[in-house]
Amino acid sequence: MDQVAQQMLLQLRDVHRPTLCLDCHVVAYAGIQMTGTATSRAKILQQRHQELLTVIMRFCTIPRSAQDLSILQRSLSSAMARCQNSNAHNSARFREKSTLAHYAFSMLTAPLDECLTRSDRLRRADRFSRTGEWPRSVDDLLPCSAQQSLMTLIFWVRHSPRQSRVDIGTAAQTVAFFRVVFRACRREFSEYMREEEVRRALTEMLCFLFDRSVEIFHRGSDVRTEATLYITSLGDLVHEVAMGSPTAVQPESPDSMQAIFLGSEDRVLGAFDAVWRCLDGDPLLRETKQRIGTILIKAYLAFGRAPPEYIDAMSGWSIIPEVYCYLSSAMCAIDVRLECSNPGCHKQARDCDVGKLQRCSSCKIFKYCTKACQAQHWSRPALPHKKHCRNIRNVLAVMPLEGVFSDDFLKTLVDYLVAEFGT
Ligand SMILES: [Zn+2]
Ligand SMILES: [Zn+2]
Ligand SMILES: [Zn+2]
Repeated sequence: MDQVAQQMLLQLRDVHRPTLCLDCHVVAYAGIQMTGTATSRAKILQQRHQELLTVIMRFCTIPRSAQDLSILQRSLSSAMARCQNSNAHNSARFREKSTLAHYAFSMLTAPLDECLTRSDRLRRADRFSRTGEWPRSVDDLLPCSAQQSLMTLIFWVRHSPRQSRVDIGTAAQTVAFFRVVFRACRREFSEYMREEEVRRALTEMLCFLFDRSVEIFHRGSDVRTEATLYITSLGDLVHEVAMGSPTAVQPESPDSMQAIFLGSEDRVLGAFDAVWRCLDGDPLLRETKQRIGTILIKAYLAFGRAPPEYIDAMSGWSIIPEVYCYLSSAMCAIDVRLECSNPGCHKQARDCDVGKLQRCSSCKIFKYCTKACQAQHWSRPALPHKKHCRNIRNVLAVMPLEGVFSDDFLKTLVDYLVAEFGT
């Protein structure tokens, strides 16, 4: 593995003119994936090949003009032609030369993805390693400027290839990669989420991917499993990007659904609705359908429109969607927020001395940077936490957050509401 990694570093050092042979890279990386567990591979990469990982991040986030792209394409193509192992190449694999660059992106994200998705610190909280494992800080993830990086990532993900069965898996992986980077760098990105250009690009990317996923789904039953996984990963991405919710938790937040999709509401609802409709007939698809249904309803509510009744009826939900959505999304929105819960304090785990935000010991959902912030929030004049803490605790006692998307959640919620408030 070390050898492969060192060679990759040499071949990628010039991110505009890499000398990496994709064909051989596929084989080499497949070989690596046979060795050890994913966790042990990620550990080796994170400890011993930090420079390589940052260079790959640079490859993925550096802005490229049309000219840069064609230079990249030519470099990849000539690296393949000049390769000493060219007789062992699988000539069919990269016949479509015009998509070489996109394949390179998808493939290079694989080791990053292994490292990032296995990092609980990054997934659950915005915390970088204190023991010097990659990513050591946000600079490792964003070697280029935040806005350019975001736009570049959107470009790549939007154009990730998804023709064959394998491609769909790769496309799902690029979506997952985008999601984890977005999460870790949310603070850096959120500043730009207010900008029209970024919002439009993001909206267009999401709608485009949703449209494509429907096409893939209809292509036939042999790709159905991959298509469903792809749709699930897209749903997770929407959830991640628009973690602001239709509730009043953060109405002014630039990453709420209203803010991001402003001006494209019909387009967004159309795209989500088409996906929701295609997931029919198969009980195995039910969970995915419910997740997409939840997003769809959230979007309707965020745009100030009443969700059509058929969504509720056809998902098999026996409860007014508003109640479900408001409660679940309020809880999730608070839980996934990366900042101190004291309004106005924007500190994150990475700013705290102890390296993490401390949760309120009673409700275990609000989190604070310091005791001082907690005390301030507890008894602030407007919406003091002391008024809600116990209620939140009671609600969470019967429906833990991880159950939010499950069928049981709805049953428990109904039971709870009936017990608490009568019928
Ligand atoms: Zn080769
Ligand atoms: Zn509390
Ligand atoms: Zn604070």
